[in-house]
Amino acid sequence: MVSSSEPVAKEVNKRHLNVVFIGHVDAGKSSIAGQILYLSGQVDERTIQKCQKDAKANGRESWFMAYIMDVNEEERAKGITVEVAQADFETETTRFTILDAPGHKSYVPNMISGTSQADIGVLVISARKGEFESGFQGGGQTCEHIQLAKTLGISKLLVVVNKMDDKTVNWSKKRYDEIESEMVPFLKFSGYNVKKDIQFLPISGLRGTNMKTRMDKKVCPWWDGQCLFEALDVIDVPPRDLNGPFRMPIFDKYKDMGAVVMGEVESGSVHEGDNLLVMPNKVKVKVVAIFFNEEKVKDKVNSAGLGENLRIRIIGIEEEDIRPGFVLCSIEKPIPVVNEFVAQMKILGLVDNTLLAAGYNANLHIHSVLENCEIMELFTQKIDPKTGKPVDPMKKKVVFVKIGDVVMCRIKVTNMICIEKFSDFQQLGRFSLRSNDKTIAIGKVTDIHA
Ligand code: GDP
Repeated sequence: MVSSSEPVAKEVNKRHLNVVFIGHVDAGKSSIAGQILYLSGQVDERTIQKCQKDAKANGRESWFMAYIMDVNEEERAKGITVEVAQADFETETTRFTILDAPGHKSYVPNMISGTSQADIGVLVISARKGEFESGFQGGGQTCEHIQLAKTLGISKLLVVVNKMDDKTVNWSKKRYDEIESEMVPFLKFSGYNVKKDIQFLPISGLRGTNMKTRMDKKVCPWWDGQCLFEALDVIDVPPRDLNGPFRMPIFDKYKDMGAVVMGEVESGSVHEGDNLLVMPNKVKVKVVAIFFNEEKVKDKVNSAGLGENLRIRIIGIEEEDIRPGFVLCSIEKPIPVVNEFVAQMKILGLVDNTLLAAGYNANLHIHSVLENCEIMELFTQKIDPKTGKPVDPMKKKVVFVKIGDVVMCRIKVTNMICIEKFSDFQQLGRFSLRSNDKTIAIGKVTDIHA
């Protein structure tokens, strides 16, 4: 984690958004995130110089910006972002927490947990010759990330066309337009309203061009749109229910004068001294301290609300009794606990192009939960066009499904999990199924009383 030399003043009246960087490996996600931290004054010159030196020592000189975000030795050695790193910066209107998602294929589960915490996404595309193509076609991660982002609740995407400075691109408008026109149909297919939800921008993450300040016309005469910071500043996200019952899925935890749980507030607010429940094990706990991001005095707050990324110190429970995927929630309106639910899902891919039938086993990812699950039943359900609601007697069994199909299903998990109906809490009711490092399906929970 990057520690800035200057403490950041917490202006609580600014809105807070979590932003995740997604896209194919090597597209430039870590470089852009590192550059943002540098441009917004979160990283000093000394850190930059150290990263430059470390990168050089590892024979990876061009990676020095990425070094700011890629903090563990394993990542540096490989040049790959493994865990979801986290850092903060502010623009005029907004406090942002950057969740840097990994792009490598085998790290998609981490990308899912990073993305499920995010409000907006920055999809990074490399404009370098051949790189856009390998990221977008033939097994590239770009398409999978777009679909996951949509299911995981990222309603707005900034698509940054990066490496525009590369010598194979040289700020070519033709290349930029080509990438945009190839991506638009896929974004539409994935459920995005391109006019309302998507914005394209050309940048160079390595050089910091068109990021904090608008494009220098001498560098790129044809672009007169916004720079990245402006676009982030005015991005409009759907309002969430501020008065809902408190819900914070636990992403991680550790021991420190009690148990400290980490996660994002998906509903309601929390105050020091609150009595809450840890679900599904129904343990009553008391909140003794709340921190933004890091457990430091400068980050301590008395209360926090929706969308905040927090560390909360609780007493009344042993740290060993908490698992990632558990939910800290209000006592009056606790989150439902189930081991079976009904869902609608879309099949994205199947291992070795097999068919999917009842009895199929996969990994279920839903908010911070990761559990083994079995598909118990597959069926279609007719929707009443007047009410938009399913008509129950029209339930028809489906024997198997193939890629592209949308079906209803009943899913059973091994351990009890805390989830909500998608229609009540989108962030807690959307999921993905994965098997053998592949995303099999994405879906939403339609009923929790299976
Ligand atoms: P990630 O895997 O998406 O996080 O990608 P990195 O940030 O690690 O970058 C991968 C490689 O692309 C590194 O060698 C970077 O120096 C290079 N790179 C990233 N952004 C740019 C850019 O804007 N221009 C150029 N020319 N290279 C870049």
